[in-house]
Amino acid sequence: MASKFKYRGSLLVVGFLLILSVGCEKFEKIKNLCRNSARKESVNEKGEKMGQKIVRSDREWKEVLTPEQYRVTRKKGTEQPFSGKYYYFDGKGLYRCVCCGNELFSSGTKFDSGCGWPSFWSPTSDENVGESLDTSHSMIRTEVTCSRCGAHLGHIFQDGPKPTGLRYCINSVALKFEPESK
Ligand code: FE
Repeated sequence: MASKFKYRGSLLVVGFLLILSVGCEKFEKIKNLCRNSARKESVNEKGEKMGQKIVRSDREWKEVLTPEQYRVTRKKGTEQPFSGKYYYFDGKGLYRCVCCGNELFSSGTKFDSGCGWPSFWSPTSDENVGESLDTSHSMIRTEVTCSRCGAHLGHIFQDGPKPTGLRYCINSVALKFEPESK
């Protein structure tokens, strides 16, 4: 009789443990689903939060950029005039930061300035670019950067067309073009 109760007791314990483990597994699945759906809303494909500043070491930038992209965007370099792939280019779409994907310029504001670098009369949003004084090379210029990752993009001049009168003179190598979806 005692052994019968002992047997039933063991079965109950095993059953309880089985239910508990299935429950935990389901709980973990639900928790992961919630976590993933939250991630989809707030992070990009690289797992970086949109709107969040991106800070990487020089070594990390070297790993993800080509030498020319690194020289121009991280070391404030300038590509040769008339050499960039977006200078003689009139595709419709968006120009993003080559380093972090931040939306920078629209083809709708691109114009032929004759200066040798892609030129825009406005960024898509003032919040997406930063400006700072650049006194290098014995010149006083306004440098324009990506506000998300700090990439050097080019310079701003006051000889652009209406409506802004500005010319955002941008290195092609600092940009990544995204065609308009049809
Ligand atoms: Fe950027």
